[in-house]
Amino acid sequence: MMINCILLFSQWEEISGLDENYTPIRTYQVCQVMEPNQNNWLRTNWIEKGDAQRIFVELKFTLRDCNSLPGVVGSCKETFNLYYQETDVEVGRNIRESQYVKIDTIAADESFTQGDLGERKMKLNTEVRIIGPLSRRGFYLAFQDVGACIALVSVKVYYKKCWSIIENLATFPDTVTGSEFSSLVEVEGTCVNDAEEEADNSPKMHCSAEGEWLVPIGKCICKAGFHQKGDACEPCGRGFYKSSSQDLQCSRCPAHSYNDREGSWRCDCEDGYYRALSDPPSVACTRPPSAPQNLLYNINHTTVSLEWTPPADTGGRNDVMYRIICRRCTWEPEECFPCGSNVGYLPQQSGLTDTYVTITDLLAHANYTFEVEAVNGVSDLSRTQRLFAAVSIATSQAAPSQVSEVIKERVQQHSIQLSWQEPEQPNGVITEYEIKYYEKDQKNRIYSTVKSKSTSATVNNLKPSTAYIFQIRAFTAAGYGTFGPRVEVTTKEESTGSGEQIIKFPGTKTYIDPETYEDPNRAVHQFAKELDASCIKIERVIGAGEFGEVCSGRLKLPGKRDVSVAIKTLKVGYTEKQRRDFLCEASIMGQFDHPNVVHLEGVVTRGKPVMIVIEYMENGSLDAFLRKHDGQFTVIQLVGMLRGIAAGMRYLSDMGYVHRDLAARNILVNSNLVCKVSDFGLSRVIDDDPEAVYTTTGGKIPVRWTAMEAIQYRKFTSASDVWSYGILMWEVMSYGERPYWDMSNQDVIKAIEEGYRLPAPMDCPPGLHQLMLDCWQKDRADRPKFDQIVGILDKMIRNPNTLKTPMGTCTRPISPLLDQNTPDFNSFRLVSEWLEAIKMERYVDSFTAAGYSSLESVARMTIEDVMSLGISLVGHQKKIMSSIQTMRAQMLHLHGTGVQV
Ligand code: AMP
Repeated sequence: MMINCILLFSQWEEISGLDENYTPIRTYQVCQVMEPNQNNWLRTNWIEKGDAQRIFVELKFTLRDCNSLPGVVGSCKETFNLYYQETDVEVGRNIRESQYVKIDTIAADESFTQGDLGERKMKLNTEVRIIGPLSRRGFYLAFQDVGACIALVSVKVYYKKCWSIIENLATFPDTVTGSEFSSLVEVEGTCVNDAEEEADNSPKMHCSAEGEWLVPIGKCICKAGFHQKGDACEPCGRGFYKSSSQDLQCSRCPAHSYNDREGSWRCDCEDGYYRALSDPPSVACTRPPSAPQNLLYNINHTTVSLEWTPPADTGGRNDVMYRIICRRCTWEPEECFPCGSNVGYLPQQSGLTDTYVTITDLLAHANYTFEVEAVNGVSDLSRTQRLFAAVSIATSQAAPSQVSEVIKERVQQHSIQLSWQEPEQPNGVITEYEIKYYEKDQKNRIYSTVKSKSTSATVNNLKPSTAYIFQIRAFTAAGYGTFGPRVEVTTKEESTGSGEQIIKFPGTKTYIDPETYEDPNRAVHQFAKELDASCIKIERVIGAGEFGEVCSGRLKLPGKRDVSVAIKTLKVGYTEKQRRDFLCEASIMGQFDHPNVVHLEGVVTRGKPVMIVIEYMENGSLDAFLRKHDGQFTVIQLVGMLRGIAAGMRYLSDMGYVHRDLAARNILVNSNLVCKVSDFGLSRVIDDDPEAVYTTTGGKIPVRWTAMEAIQYRKFTSASDVWSYGILMWEVMSYGERPYWDMSNQDVIKAIEEGYRLPAPMDCPPGLHQLMLDCWQKDRADRPKFDQIVGILDKMIRNPNTLKTPMGTCTRPISPLLDQNTPDFNSFRLVSEWLEAIKMERYVDSFTAAGYSSLESVARMTIEDVMSLGISLVGHQKKIMSSIQTMRAQMLHLHGTGVQV
């Protein structure tokens, strides 16, 4: 800054001269050494101080040594005084001494000793003084001469600052020093581009009074995606990333990831690869595992254990776990539903780290599908198809659940009659109940048992006025269930009265032919409940009956749970006769109450359409159901179905009802595989049956199912129903095969008359075929009664060993008719032709893939070979194996070894 001085009523003079280097300069001089009491002031112009608080004043001057001046007396001085005055604005030219603050008395370090001022040879002194802290906008400096000989050569006024600097990636701006010598000015740094302050460590520096940066604290660091190069942050290159500001360097993208941008904080996964939320950017991208391998299962009644080996590809991760998806499938329509929460999983259903699980509490006789899925940390992110291993399993038998609701029907002095409800989960066909009882107060609790085939029993030979404890359990092919709760009943007191005798009649109900009613409407209302149409909700059409559509829907009676029902409707425009015939079925069905006879819920006759409402049988008619599930049931399951039908028929025959059209197509199957007899009527039943044909005797008869005497002279009895039952058994054991295949009705009648009978279906236990043959005894008196049939089947169920057919031991008699069931292997050349003939063409590809290209190679197959083709259904394994055995035998025969088939 240029400082101009004002000469104020003083002796100061502005004079041109030369400095040491003989450069011309302007100086202010004063030299009133001869006169006493000098007071000469020289003042600068107003100096604006700017940001400065601490000002340095450097003076350059020369000063004469008083001794060197000849003739001067006491008045000569060798110092001068330096002052300043702070103001916010320029003030006038007047100097009021009192307003000035003295900075110092300045003395020369070197003074002239030779020459005089006129010689212009000067010894220059430099003195620096500091003023501050300053608070006003500006100031004046003033020089007071009190009688010295001075030349003021230069006055430099300055302040100090710390210059802008980048330190630790932070920029610190130009900073003016503090007001005190000792003060340090703290300055916050600003991070350079693409850098950020380190957490809790913001950058600071200190500007010292000397204009030096001191004591750096904290720092900035390059943001994610950037790394430090000198004093700046540069973006990571392509194919590199830096995930955090904490990392020092950019790193190359990990496996299965890439990026094509600069400055990335992470790399993107390649298609089909993912990063789990918890995966840091530094790990490779991974993918879901492949499916578990070698899934094996083991069924133990209603418990299934699964075991597998880990997937071939873990997807590049080590967090593979497994989850189980359980679905229960209905037979028909074949639909699968999640198993729900009633099923137990050990150790758990998902998050399995071991390669095994046990699934408990499944329903008996049910079809399940289990999927085992391997999952890892990225499975849920993947949109690709789920990969899993799956098995379909049919559970076997479990014992029935407890019998709980026991009712005292009748209590006498010596007997007690109890009835109860079937257990909630029969898990099969209940063939018997066991009633255990003992005297309550008897010490050693010796108990007796009584058995009953129905849900009621009378216990006789009891003591009067005695408390008894009863417990009941159910029996199925799977064995006994656990006993239900204890029920206490006390017999009546001994009668002392007149010895009155109650005569009891056996309480069998008899069937009443609705045709015997004059008014058919009365017959319907005698046996069937009239329902309010508003309680019925029709949902969809499921079939066509003779009189109209058959629909499914729901029935909600007041105060009861709604139930699924089948609704048979009478089409509009019916004749009075059609109405009567239609309702006739209800009049008959309404008289029956048995678990193996389709149950009538009621009728709607007072509205339109006229309806018959029947319990809903989810799996429809038995023949179609069996054909759909060819080979899929165990022999015990099939016998269980037959047993149910026989029990229904025993009930009907006990009531004196003759069905006349007993056949698999007239049996309905519910979701628990319980079979019930249906299709009741009089003549119309048979009219309705497409199998029924007119015979020479004029009646319409389903020939293949009907006993000889009924075809010949219309002798329909329970014994002819037994014949039909034998045919039905054959249908069941052959999974819905048509009896006598495609023989004509005439040929069937002829063959039967000549004594031929249907051969055992494939894999039919000999005992069952024997029972069929018994049902087909020519003389109807020789045929078993339904009661005996139920007994025989129960025995078989209780001793499943009797139902085993040792593979390859074929007990069939040989006759042209009987051979129809066995294909002639000599007529086939190809494996596919053979499989087609035995209805196993679905496995053609499996045989081909395994290299079985000729029948000769097939004939050598063992059961293990068949299983290794992936044929898991036991029924199919048996069917194929049995055919292979026969094929082998036929081939031997052909080659002249004479082995009997
Ligand atoms: P129908 O007139 O009794 O022969 O019945 C015709 C068809 O309707 C049958 O073949 C069954 O498929 C079906 N159907 C009849 N009654 C029922 C029922 N109670 N539950 C389920 N489906 C039934």
